[in-house]
Amino acid sequence: MTANLLDFDLEGLAAFCEQLGEKRFRATQLFRWIHQRGASDFSGMSDLAKSLRDKLPDVAHIAAPAVLSRQNAADGTIKWLFDVGNGDAVEAVFIPESDRGTLCVSSQAGCAVGCRFCSTGHQGFSRNLSTAEIVAQLWFVEHTLKRELQTTERMVTNVVMMGMGEPLQNYHALVPALKVMLNDHGYGLSRRRVTVSTSGVVPMMDKLSKDCPVALAVSLHAPIDSLRDDLVPLNKKYPLQELLEACARYLPAAPRDFLTFEYCMLAGINDQPEHARALIQLVRQFDGGRGLSCKFNLIPFNPFPDSGLTCSDKATVQTFAATLSAAGLVTTVRKTRGDDIDAACGQLAGEVLDRTNAVSRMAKRRVGTEHVVSMHARLP
Ligand code: SAH
Ligand code: SF4
Repeated sequence: MTANLLDFDLEGLAAFCEQLGEKRFRATQLFRWIHQRGASDFSGMSDLAKSLRDKLPDVAHIAAPAVLSRQNAADGTIKWLFDVGNGDAVEAVFIPESDRGTLCVSSQAGCAVGCRFCSTGHQGFSRNLSTAEIVAQLWFVEHTLKRELQTTERMVTNVVMMGMGEPLQNYHALVPALKVMLNDHGYGLSRRRVTVSTSGVVPMMDKLSKDCPVALAVSLHAPIDSLRDDLVPLNKKYPLQELLEACARYLPAAPRDFLTFEYCMLAGINDQPEHARALIQLVRQFDGGRGLSCKFNLIPFNPFPDSGLTCSDKATVQTFAATLSAAGLVTTVRKTRGDDIDAACGQLAGEVLDRTNAVSRMAKRRVGTEHVVSMHARLP
């Protein structure tokens, strides 16, 4: 198998070119062909030296994972399901708005954190995605949409690492992928427009602040440890106080002067006035009582089969938001997008593989992976 060039940030591609006996600046040319032009065929890269053009097909390729399905929602949201092999699939979701196009990118097949309210968490963990598999979601969507709309205008203006998986538990693949997104010869996205969302992997938050400080969203979901232990099991390892201290340490490196806290609204579980009050107290203790500089994003819980949970009603969400706002915390309620195609937060299950589902496991053994893929993938 030759190297997939989507696996390299510019530095990595330069090293690869050097190994081939080529000058480093060739890497920049190649990188621009791949990421700015969406090229996958070396023969068309007209400004590359002919010798390199001839050499590359023997040692390298440029390819995204195969697309198993694509679904277009009524509101313009588009969800792609990519086959990453061995019965695993991951999803990327494009969310168009008047002033931006946001791509929600997956970092793992499944997730080991196992949050109670998350469909990905319920599936269990299969494996980390490679840098190429992360970058490919952006490469494929950006250039597919550009071709379809026959435009040279940028399609994806924002990336959120909020698809399947915990990005900070796949740190080594994540960071080069972020660098491709940020690089001016790549997608040239500003750090403010690339957001890593984490359930709170404290040591990796510190590392990210040094290696590649992009916007950070922290999935809070509860203001007290006993409740958060239950909802986000990683809290047992990195409890709230430690998490909030890591947030405070991240702030000086953050591209904007605040962090975002995500809070999934679960009826009767974390949505009561006392929870709002405890949240206010939790963030107030920082910066000599001035509080941690943050915004709250309340996410109405998106149901999925067998979660045993329901979303807070509208009035409860509004009251909760009003309580936070009254205390001076900027609070927004996330609009649900693409829910008619199960593309909303926490509904991304890859669909191909329900690791807890014995029937599909048995079927897989009987008929082989490919058949399970076509059986389970919900096609448009
Ligand atoms: N693993 C990372 C990023 C992926 S999840 C994280 O947990 O932050 C992206 C966001 O969707 C997180 O805030 C997560 O808590 C939220 N989410 C997960 N399941 C959800 C559901 N069923 N309804 C609403 N939000 C959900
Ligand atoms: Fe993993 Fe995030 Fe889902 Fe929790 S919410 S299980 S960390 S993907």
